[in-house]
Amino acid sequence: MSIHVLSETVAAQIAAGEVIERPASVVKELIENALDAGASQIHVEIVEGGRRLIRVSDDGHGITMAEADLAFARHATSKINRIEDLNHLNTLGFRGEALHSIAAISRVTLVTRSTGEASGTRLHAAGGEIQERRRVGSPAGTVVTVEDLFYNTPARLKFLKNDVTERRHITSLVTQYAMAYPSVVFSLLQDGREAFRTYGTGVLADVLVKTLGADVFRDMLEVQPQPPSRPDLPPVEVTGFTSTPDQNRSNRGHITLFVNGRIIRDSSLTYAVSQAYHTLMPRDRFPVAVLMIAVPPDEVDVNVHPTKAEVRFRSPDVVFSAVQKAVRTAIIQQAPAPIVSRDTLSESSRWQSYGGATRRPSTLGSRYQQQELELELEGAGEYGQRLHPESSMPSSDLAGYGSEAMTAIPQGMGRPSQPRTLPMLRVLGQAGAAYIVTEGPAGLYLIDQHAAHERILFEQYLSEQAAQAVASQQMLSAVTVELPLAAISLLEEHAEDMSRLGFELEPFGGQTMRIRALPAMLAKIDPSEALQIILGDLETGSKPGQQTLEQQIALRVCKAAAVKAGQILSITEMQDIVRQLERCQAPLTCPHGRPTLIHISAEQLAREFGRT
Ligand code: ADP
Ligand code: MG
Repeated sequence: MSIHVLSETVAAQIAAGEVIERPASVVKELIENALDAGASQIHVEIVEGGRRLIRVSDDGHGITMAEADLAFARHATSKINRIEDLNHLNTLGFRGEALHSIAAISRVTLVTRSTGEASGTRLHAAGGEIQERRRVGSPAGTVVTVEDLFYNTPARLKFLKNDVTERRHITSLVTQYAMAYPSVVFSLLQDGREAFRTYGTGVLADVLVKTLGADVFRDMLEVQPQPPSRPDLPPVEVTGFTSTPDQNRSNRGHITLFVNGRIIRDSSLTYAVSQAYHTLMPRDRFPVAVLMIAVPPDEVDVNVHPTKAEVRFRSPDVVFSAVQKAVRTAIIQQAPAPIVSRDTLSESSRWQSYGGATRRPSTLGSRYQQQELELELEGAGEYGQRLHPESSMPSSDLAGYGSEAMTAIPQGMGRPSQPRTLPMLRVLGQAGAAYIVTEGPAGLYLIDQHAAHERILFEQYLSEQAAQAVASQQMLSAVTVELPLAAISLLEEHAEDMSRLGFELEPFGGQTMRIRALPAMLAKIDPSEALQIILGDLETGSKPGQQTLEQQIALRVCKAAAVKAGQILSITEMQDIVRQLERCQAPLTCPHGRPTLIHISAEQLAREFGRT
């Protein structure tokens, strides 16, 4: 075959393939045009998964009669003139390709009336040729009807999935736009039946209740704008909703991201979202999230992909960390601590029928595990009578051994007034200088000594804080520390937080700070080291309100004060930890979400040993 230039029709059909992959791509382009036209109502109608018919109606500004033809020309757009315009783009479209592409591979009817004109225009095109043009009466706005998509590109038609699949793609697209534009009314009619509608209240939550369902939405945490981390970096605002760690999914598909009102795919940002759940969610699970990312238009290149589904950031790291930080802050601030409530006790029979505590001992799921363990409590009393929990090992064997390594397990912290949240556990010994091996009514329990102790200290701190009596320990002789000026002013700025935490600090002139008292938990730690631990937090100070900063520091204090892995513990010390853990409100995870305890059930052991 000789070299020749393709006919315009074939060239258009080929080019269309890049923009229009499936019916949902048509819906996407038409919705974007409606939004660009300032519509406050967008109605989408499809028949047979969009193959037969797609109709998008809007009440936007419409197209003037003089320009209606031009809308179908290739590279015809009203949205940009020069390439630099992309740097301050505030429309979704700019390529001038969509209507041209759609017309090349379907039969299109455009009915439009510009808000400034008295009558409207009706245009019909098929296979890229305009076939009919008339003046018509019509309401202001635009209705684009696309019929028989891919009728003249049989190869593409063959690749379409069944109606159900195409319908699903369209539904997900319409619901995503509805989330991104809560002030616009969206409706979706599928084969004559209304499948979805929003009310344009302008409140994202109203849309999410519909798109995610009320049950899922109940477990969503609001992501709020964070102050910029550094003034010299481009501002990135992240808002929206993200799920509690409990509400997780097996894939990343429930993470929906918008950049400046555009639905985007970005594996790195998706990773940033799931990364924010690090240690709070098992590795192979993913959150549900709907996040609006706003960046200055010149910080993002939208001209990367014909379908505009991918964008490129000028400072991807800044966006990444802004997303991660905003989500993380939402989780840390708002996720409810897993609490064992009385109600769950009565539900325990439900869990029993699932095989209860024998399931997935190593996952971090909080609420579920709490419930799973809950049912063992029922057997605990009986067990306790048969086998006295503290009897069988002579503690003298190990007593005193390494006891000076013990830092801060406060005495009398058994808190018998607290309800028991774990079954009574008998300490058998220590493994790897890091784990306490215990036995309970339903098998073997391995406890991470550091994680468990952190949990205990944290809850102790919380209850002291609630009683407004955080234990503070006076220094025998006041200690002075030399600090950078910035650190001194940080400490002064947060003087109130510090004293609530149990610090008594006194500026001593210049760069010197005098420490008169420390939180009792930190009594065993070098005072200046203790201050350093806290300064780190004050500096990075994600500072989402004083309260949280205080909690953040409390976490840090607990971590520093807790026994470390590698510390040899005496039996008494281990018993102390276990007794206290048994009465923690959320004994199954450390305050950072790592598990404190792994349960190996009696059944599991029997199975492993081939006894069943
Ligand atoms: P782009 O959106 O990239 O400009 P399109 O091919 O999608 O290209 O549309 C071409 C032009 O037609 C747009 O720039 C706009 O001026 C006009 N147009 C298309 N759809 C609508 C609509 N629903 N309301 C008003 N104008 C529209
Ligand atoms: Mg467009």
